[in-house]
Amino acid sequence: MNDGNKIPVIGFGTYAPEYIPVSLSEEATEVAIEVGFRHIDGAHFYQNEKEVGRAIQKKIADGTVKREDLFYTGKLWPTYHSLELAELNVTQSLETLQLDYMDLFLIHRPLSLKAMEKCKDAGLVKSIGVSNFNRRQLEKILNKPGLKYKPGCNQIESHPYLNQSKMLEFCKAHDVLLVAYSALGSHRHKYWVDQSSPLLLEDLVLAEIGKKYNKTPANIAIRYQIQRGVVAITKSYNPDRIKENFKVFDFELTPEDMKTIDGINRDFLYVDIPLFAAHPEYPLHDEY
Ligand code: NDP
Repeated sequence: MNDGNKIPVIGFGTYAPEYIPVSLSEEATEVAIEVGFRHIDGAHFYQNEKEVGRAIQKKIADGTVKREDLFYTGKLWPTYHSLELAELNVTQSLETLQLDYMDLFLIHRPLSLKAMEKCKDAGLVKSIGVSNFNRRQLEKILNKPGLKYKPGCNQIESHPYLNQSKMLEFCKAHDVLLVAYSALGSHRHKYWVDQSSPLLLEDLVLAEIGKKYNKTPANIAIRYQIQRGVVAITKSYNPDRIKENFKVFDFELTPEDMKTIDGINRDFLYVDIPLFAAHPEYPLHDEY
């Protein structure tokens, strides 16, 4: 990232909707660490930091990893945006997680960066970034007089049906890393995805390319992001699929494959939260 800190290119998403037992996030996070995930994407809002933290502590205690091998991302929820509350949000999350620091702390929904800078200065988080910011909001922050730390990344929805090529170009030009959430098209997510949406993981082009490398459409979707310089966050609570999703480091897509995948983009958004749409800073009204 632009502050010199390193971020693993594939992250394990810990969020699951409320109807899924929270205990599964503990088991899934353990499996994820066992199969090789070192980047864990969490948030206060996901209400499972206790379980995720327990899984992390277990894997540290049994010698699978050391704290410094792991990269934990947390997120500041909008109700905590004042200077004091932001710090409280991190310290509460750290206590719940049983961790001393977070590697990356993101503003979950577009608002101010000042409180985040304070958390970095206090040593509670190593890097700071933003999430769900559109270009205008990102530009506003980058041009802010007296900006102390540039956001290291912008975490937004991205996958082959929403490749965010314009945002990616903008981010690269400003040395801000793009982190893709729902990198598998939020597959069959019953909570926030319209069930008539096209299924990314059943895309014939991804399946065809996958056949060449003996890989699944999910592997191709993840590898695509890594090769274009994007960090991919994928969630699964199923041990076989967690394993499958990590098998993306033993093959390489050709420039033609990459172009073909660029060609299936349809600017399709899976994760829309209409609840926020009336807010003046709702990011999705702009083109990107
Ligand atoms: P994903 O694109 O990772 O899709 C997850 C879905 O795909 C689950 O239903 C999972 O089911 C299924 N799945 C996973 N792997 C496979 C596979 N290999 N084959 C078939 N199905 C598969 O998206 P999410 O929308 O869940 O987001 C992932 C993460 O991104 C979240 O957990 C969170 O950490 C982050 N996020 C951040 C947001 C933000 O505002 N910053 C917003 C949304 C997400 P199963 O578990 O049964 O395998």
